[in-house]
Amino acid sequence: MKTSIIGYPRLGAQRELKFATEKYFRGKLTEGELLQSAANLRKIHWQTQKDSGLDFIPSNDFSFYDLLLDTAALFNIIPQQYSDLGLSDLETYFAMARGYQGKAGDVKALAMKKWFNTNYHYLVPEIDDNVEIKLVGTKPLDEYKEAKNLGIETKPVVIGPYTLLKLTRFTENKKSADVVKDLLTAYQTFIDKLDSLGVSWIQLDEPALIFDLTDEDKNFFFEIYKSLLTKKTNLKVLIQTYFGDIRDIYKELIELPIDAIGLDFLEGKKSLELLQKYGFASDKILFAGVINGKNIWKNNYKNTIELLKEISKYTEDIVINTSCSLLHVPYTLKNEKHLDAEYKKHFAFAEEKLEELSDLKAIISSSDPISHIKYKENIDIFKSVRITPNVDVQSKLKKLTDKDFTRLPVFAEREKIQKEEFKFPLLPTTTIGSFPQTDDVRINRAAFRKGELTETAYKNFNKEKIAECIALQENIGLDVLVHGEFERNDMVEYFGECLDGFLFTEKAWVISYGTRGVKPPIIWGDISRLKPITVEYSVYAQSITKQTVKGMLTGPITILNWSFPREDIPFKESSLQIAFAIREEVLDLEANGIRIIQIDEPALREKLPLRKTDWHSEYLDWAVPTFRLVHSGVKPKTQIHTHMCYSEFNDIIPDIDAMDADVISFEASRSDLTIIGALQAAGFKTEVGPGVYDIHSPRVPSITEIKTALSKMLEKLPKEKLWVNPDCGLKTRDNKETIPSLENLVKAAKNIRDNL
Ligand code: GLN
Ligand code: ZN
Repeated sequence: MKTSIIGYPRLGAQRELKFATEKYFRGKLTEGELLQSAANLRKIHWQTQKDSGLDFIPSNDFSFYDLLLDTAALFNIIPQQYSDLGLSDLETYFAMARGYQGKAGDVKALAMKKWFNTNYHYLVPEIDDNVEIKLVGTKPLDEYKEAKNLGIETKPVVIGPYTLLKLTRFTENKKSADVVKDLLTAYQTFIDKLDSLGVSWIQLDEPALIFDLTDEDKNFFFEIYKSLLTKKTNLKVLIQTYFGDIRDIYKELIELPIDAIGLDFLEGKKSLELLQKYGFASDKILFAGVINGKNIWKNNYKNTIELLKEISKYTEDIVINTSCSLLHVPYTLKNEKHLDAEYKKHFAFAEEKLEELSDLKAIISSSDPISHIKYKENIDIFKSVRITPNVDVQSKLKKLTDKDFTRLPVFAEREKIQKEEFKFPLLPTTTIGSFPQTDDVRINRAAFRKGELTETAYKNFNKEKIAECIALQENIGLDVLVHGEFERNDMVEYFGECLDGFLFTEKAWVISYGTRGVKPPIIWGDISRLKPITVEYSVYAQSITKQTVKGMLTGPITILNWSFPREDIPFKESSLQIAFAIREEVLDLEANGIRIIQIDEPALREKLPLRKTDWHSEYLDWAVPTFRLVHSGVKPKTQIHTHMCYSEFNDIIPDIDAMDADVISFEASRSDLTIIGALQAAGFKTEVGPGVYDIHSPRVPSITEIKTALSKMLEKLPKEKLWVNPDCGLKTRDNKETIPSLENLVKAAKNIRDNL
């Protein structure tokens, strides 16, 4: 059996690509220097893969910003507003990725969206009527040659035409059907070029096949591939899928005249069943995704070998593959100096996954697999008891009954009680929680981490910042105040650090988008709250003002979704444990006089299954009650807020309402307020604060502009239910734009309020 991976991380083990690219953005690196540092990284990555003994080494999995954008650029899918800038190819590419403001013009970036069910974001290609699709780029060819010159044969990877078209936005009159012919000609030219270079394999990624497919989708797919595969070349074609199974098209796909199909046997719950039911094609190779490309736990060789054995009943030609690109896992365990070996032996990052592939190959091909040393070592890891269960947490969870997931009295009654309790004016104003994390805040935190500051000195500084922040909000005239979140590095890591059951890494970055990495904590064991987390700062903030201060927490679903989860228990169970811990914090805040508590869930939508048919049964039916568990124990007069962002909500509005918060704020300004209509149509009961301005931009919104947004909202939402707030936290902004923006927000709200 041979081995393969779908793609390798590109950022660099020390985030070299990030630093080089950002330096280039700041004008501190020339284009030539940037290209050189990228080539250096690719060389290291290819060499590492080759040294591991990997058989199919990908190329063109490198990107300066995003793979889908690369594919779009390759085929000249460049909307006119970017080509009109008249910039170099690389600059045009970055203009699409990040927007451009300069001598050549002023354009916004392409929209960014979540890549399937990952925390990676891709740029949404756009086709306007001027786009003329044709092969214009050479990146995959250049990278293939680059590797070849290093003595490394690679398999170029590009996004396939079906997925590309499915994820593209058509902004004018043209539709998929109008461009498909040109696109296929472009792919064909591209394939011919690879063929004449002597490339032996191409990997066409078609992850869009894992969605629910209609007959129309299927026909479209086959139309594309039948036309693409008419010419016989020496180049072998692998159609690679991941993030799920392809139950709607499997039976027909195995008939297609291609050389190999890549299936995901981990997230693809029905992949094995499909194989058992329909068999496989004798003229094709099966790239079997059995090594997890998304999570960081060591592979269980015994289980994997059994799975491969089962698979090999249906086909002999198998290549052992990862379930998806290794883009979604960190580089290497080698640089984790603080993590004890006892922990580390349970993990495999990208480099270690290469080792796993080579181990599996060696074990399977040996005459006596179960005596193979690598096999035995692996068995030992899984034999030992990894964690001691937290009996206290488990028994608390066992005692939960339906009552614990229901807050009483019902919403309408609480709303009355709270209107009486708080006596807020109409259209109350507030913020989402964080205030600008200025340099002094970061310096203070870094000094404390390095041990240069005592805990008291560190906390006192934060309290000074809180006092400043409270005074600022009082001056501006906001109705509900916040403490500013100066103590938090990150809304998930901060809570993880205060809970038992998490592990932290030093260098385990994964790309979130472009050059930005995140470092998710690892859920290692059962989770519990060791001590109060936010109480001291919230109570301090409340003690220095007569106005109401909101307590600010991160919700269990977001904490789970932005961590590397356990694989030995279901997500549901980990999230319930986290919910229980956060519930204790909620009750503690309430007992200490905090009357409004916000529980943020920006990542609620993230693990929503890719197939709509699974949405409720597999996710929402537990995620929504888990959120309710956090707040169901508070008094009727305590007001629970929540906040969501980064995604579309229009299709899960009843579920958001079922979270049963009293107030919800969310991102709306960038989606042109389309959500308001959806809220109205659904008869949304929860009070709402649709963001009135975009905090992702340094622009200061004018009073008129905010008034216009509010008036539009009031056309569809009852005035008693409307709150006024920005669309997300302010931590990435500067005070110089934040203060005037909030002043305008308050003035606009007062102005409209006076006329109601
Ligand atoms: N309360 C958090 C903040 O204001 C919410 C952040 C988020 O939604 N991502 O920063
Ligand atoms: Zn947000």
